This record gives sequence, C-alpha cells and structure tokens, in this order.
Amino acid sequence: MKLKSLVINGFKSFADKTQIDFQTGMTAIVGPNGSGKSNVIEAIRWVLGEQSAKSLRSGKMPDVIFAGASERKPLNRASVTITFTNTDRYLPLNEDEVVITRRIYRDGDSEFLLNGKQVRLKDITGLMLDTGLGKESFSIISQGRVEAIFKSKPEERRAIIEEVAGVLKYKKEKQKAQQELAQTTEHLNRVADIVGELG
Ligand code: ATP
Repeated sequence: MKLKSLVINGFKSFADKTQIDFQTGMTAIVGPNGSGKSNVIEAIRWVLGEQSAKSLRSGKMPDVIFAGASERKPLNRASVTITFTNTDRYLPLNEDEVVITRRIYRDGDSEFLLNGKQVRLKDITGLMLDTGLGKESFSIISQGRVEAIFKSKPEERRAIIEEVAGVLKYKKEKQKAQQELAQTTEHLNRVADIVGELG
C-alpha cells in the first residue's frame, strides 16, 4: 500500500482544488509559517475518518470548510480525496487502487465514498484498522503530541514504542492466556477437592 495522491478542495486554507502527488522519494512538505503544511496532514486524518473537530483545531466539524479570506468569499463545501495503491492487497479490498472521499457541507451533512460508492464512517475506519493508519496509530504525530511524548514518563514512552513495534497486541494476548491459565488451575483445584471428598 502506498499513498499515491491527495486532492483537497475547500478544506481549511485550500479554497481551490489542490492535488498533491506523492512520488517515490518524497519525504517532506516545506513552506513558510501558516502556509498550510499542517492542514495537509489534517486533510489526511479527516478523510480517513477523524471525528474530533478539536483535534483538527476547529470548533465544530463544518469549520474545516474554507472560511473566506480578504478577497475570497467563504465556501459551502469541503472535500478531500485520498488515493492509495493497493496492488499488494495490503488493504483488504480486491482493488489495485483504493480511493476514499469525504465531503462536508455547511449544514453539517457529510458523506464518505469508497471507490465511488457511498459508505459509512464505520466502513472507512474498519478498512484502516491494523494498517498503521487507524485511529490509535502513531503514523501521524501532531506537533503537540511530539511534546507530550518528550514529557511522558518512561513507562508511558515504553507503551508507545511497544504499540509502534506491534508488541502490545501480543502482550494483551499473553495477559488473556495467563488469565485463562489461572482460571483453569482454579477449576483443577476444585476438581481435586471434589475427588478428595469422594475418596
Ligand atoms: P506552521 O509552520 O506555523 O506550523 P503551517 O504551514 O502548518 O504553519 P497551517 O497551520 O496548516 O500552517 O495553516 C494555517 C493557516 O490555515 C492559517 O492561515 C489559517 O488562517 C488557515 N486556515 C485554517 N482553517 C481555515 C479555514 N477553515 N478557512 C480558511 N483558512 C483556514
């Protein structure tokens, strides 16, 4: 799976339709302060199903729509489209390309499209689960989060590293197995008690 392109239209500072093609070797987006670098990252999070307006630095979700500028009227609609190549079938869809679109209108109405078909938010978050781009993943770390990680306690930092390394999943499975083992041991003890009483 590879991020191929992003089309931003009416989202935050992108009043005009803007397409970014992520060619091989592209590693950074640079630009002056306030030019919209973070808005690009927020567009990616939004199209993948972000539900918290606050985490997108907005009051309510329709605030992500272009709010107007000195010589430009506000818009009534925002849309973002993200395209992933999927020839390796990393995403569980039998398609070489996966295209996700999210739209929102001033009245708050919004919709998701997956390869041109209208879908629910759940379908998008489900698709992204365990891909490294899901809700709890660390693929996208905001400026504030970087600071929080620096300031976190060693145990908290360890949990983040374990999550990134994919160890957490196994730790949880181990915990569950240990619980089951303890329960089984208890059952065995009870059986031994009963056998003792009968004998
Ligand atoms: P920095 O380097 O300072 O972090 P940046 O390049 O990441 O800046 P952003 O934070 O992405 O810049 O963009 C901020 C700009 O986006 C501000 O000028 C702000 O007015 C504009 N902006 C944010 N939301 C909207 C909106 N809904 N409508 C119009 N402009 C918006």
